[in-house]
Amino acid sequence: MSSFVYNGLPARVIFGFGAVRQLEAEIDRLGIKRVLVLATRRQKINAERTADLLGSKAAGVFADAVRHTPVDVTERALATVTRLGADGTLAIGGGSTTGLGKAIALRTDLPQIVVPTTYAGSEMTPILGETKDGAKTTIRNLKVLPETVIYDAELTLSLPPDISGPSGINAIAHAVEGLYAQDRNPVMSLLAESGIRALAMALPVIARAPQDREARINALYGAWLCGMCLGSVGMALHHKLCHTLGGSFDLPHAETHAVVLPQAVAYVAPAAPEAMVAVARALGASDAAQGLYDLAGTVGAKRSLRELGMPESGIDKATDLALANPYWNPRPLERAGVRAVISRAWSGEPPIAP
Ligand code: NAD
Repeated sequence: MSSFVYNGLPARVIFGFGAVRQLEAEIDRLGIKRVLVLATRRQKINAERTADLLGSKAAGVFADAVRHTPVDVTERALATVTRLGADGTLAIGGGSTTGLGKAIALRTDLPQIVVPTTYAGSEMTPILGETKDGAKTTIRNLKVLPETVIYDAELTLSLPPDISGPSGINAIAHAVEGLYAQDRNPVMSLLAESGIRALAMALPVIARAPQDREARINALYGAWLCGMCLGSVGMALHHKLCHTLGGSFDLPHAETHAVVLPQAVAYVAPAAPEAMVAVARALGASDAAQGLYDLAGTVGAKRSLRELGMPESGIDKATDLALANPYWNPRPLERAGVRAVISRAWSGEPPIAP
């Protein structure tokens, strides 16, 4: 085995169907007296129900979380924290809600409990992306790593299949890139392969039967493992492309991952043969990139950026941005190849190595 460095991140994880019933005990354990419940507008009713159940332990609800964590929303949330005298946050939702809790923690160091209801994985990372005046900045700081994460698959039963599929592939993307990361290590590689396998088995079932309890448990378990990869090792071309495309064309986060992943993997494949074997094995496919493309189709995810609303004229701009300040990548980036990846992702053609 080659040499490696492994850094473990501190995390307390409570996993189980119905695990959210342990919320009050966790609030007490962290010494929180009045928790502010965070959510998106779409999940406001659930957040209010949770606050009602928590009674005097809840300071109130702030249900304005949106994607990409805009700083002006964070400032309003901070004012609510002060007004209501909250001494901790409880984020119930996907990456957008988790991001808001992290942004509050960055500025206040308040303890965070996160109850993830998508497969985005943000809860396992010390990473926060924020937007201000249309520009996105990303920081890495242990202050934003949540103190407690409660994974309760029961809360994911309501996640519609058209969000579940892309969100699960978003998680898979963390593990795929973890397998060929420059700083990969055997622990994360084990988690990565197991995470991909769990999601690849669960997502097609969820697409057919969103209420399937076993599949929901397996998908959330896989998302946890994949989230740990994102938090622990560096990401490459795929994440750079999604970051760039999402920010420049305001494309939806998980759906963009689902489109780009097979194409980015096809580009990387010749330079990362061991990782490709592991990905294909976990997917039960003969080829990693084609297996990911097929999985996206099976779960009903869109497979072209065109369908997500990106103009064809954006292909060259996206290529320029992807090549500016590039992330490390196993296969060196060259313009024609990266442009071909984006172009194929735009039209939704099956992946081939450019
Ligand atoms: P999201 O949080 O925006 O959720 C997508 C939609 O699903 C929202 O409308 C939400 O209200 C709804 N939803 C969530 N759970 C639901 C449920 N159980 N039932 C019904 N509806 C539900 O999307 P996401 O893909 O989870 O997260 C995307 C955001 O997270 C982006 O801003 C991205 O940059 C960020 N992110 C950050 C990291 C990190 O490490 N910093 C990692 C992954 C994602």
